[in-house]
Amino acid sequence: MSLLEVRDLEVAFHTADGTVRAVDRVSFTIDGGQTLAVVGESGSGKSVTALTLLGLNRGAEVAGTVLFDGVDLLAMDDEAMRAVRGNQIAMVFQDPLSSLHPLYRVGWQIEEAILAHRDVPRQQARARAVELLDLVGIPEPARRVDDYPHQFSGGMRQRAMIAMALALDPRLLIADEPTTALDATVQAQILDLIRRLQGELGTALIIITHDLGIVADLADDVIVMYAGRVVERADRRTLYYHPHHPYTVGLLRSVPGSVARAARLQPIPGQPPSLIRLPSGCRFHPHCEFVMDRCVDHDPPELRVLGGLHHGSACWLPGEMVGTDDDTHRRRSAYAGAHRQTLVGSGSTAVP
Ligand code: SF4
Repeated sequence: MSLLEVRDLEVAFHTADGTVRAVDRVSFTIDGGQTLAVVGESGSGKSVTALTLLGLNRGAEVAGTVLFDGVDLLAMDDEAMRAVRGNQIAMVFQDPLSSLHPLYRVGWQIEEAILAHRDVPRQQARARAVELLDLVGIPEPARRVDDYPHQFSGGMRQRAMIAMALALDPRLLIADEPTTALDATVQAQILDLIRRLQGELGTALIIITHDLGIVADLADDVIVMYAGRVVERADRRTLYYHPHHPYTVGLLRSVPGSVARAARLQPIPGQPPSLIRLPSGCRFHPHCEFVMDRCVDHDPPELRVLGGLHHGSACWLPGEMVGTDDDTHRRRSAYAGAHRQTLVGSGSTAVP
């Protein structure tokens, strides 16, 4: 049994402008100690998915199944969910300043996180806070435990947030863009820290990011989201070297120094669609250079990409057209050109 199994998750928000379909039929699993990267642009549904796992989407209409250790989180009441949050599943957010209260000492906030779930004396919680600050690399932790958040640098605040998230030895840590607000050097240090801690503690990790580059040597598996849907999933190596979906290829070609080796950085054209008025057929079709007739009217299911047991792609292009090289690009273009005026089968095999 997987530690976390998400099946056909759907999240919608009803607004004055219409229904926002933020997450649509999203499924994935993660085992203990594994790292799953969820990659996509803002508005792709990745953060909404994470918040839903923690029961933090008030006002949303949620459907599907989220099994954590075999128990459905979506069926839990608020009190039961509070017991899971922090204790079993913890989250690190992008901006530590908005998560750390500016008026309280860093150590006190970690102590409170412990005391909310554990019946231990404050002195013991304080000793644990010092230990955690040491674990995440805060120098002189016994002294800095009494600092206020503004006395920490941005990188130290993020380390403190990670310490707080790990305070109760969660089995699953969700890190939502944990390094986006940091400069490149500190970013690398925080990613190193997450990698080291995960190795030492055996915590399962879901890392959410818009940047495929930062998960290049961190993730076991990767899912790519676009406009609320998973458009491609694979193990990290397959996804980087043999991507299938044109959106994934575009993301890879926009990563500086990536394996896609585009001569110049190639941004993905256009903005993701409104989640209130989604395009017909494939959601990516208004921006896809390989669009074919069937893409406009028929939403592709997740299809197994040939050669990859766990490699799926929601795209009508033939399953063997993987990679980012120029030859594959030419073959995709030729195939798409030949199928632009007539509807034909793709030859792909549906994932069972
Ligand atoms: Fe492009 Fe069609 Fe594939 Fe969508 S289904 S990504 S429009 S080729």
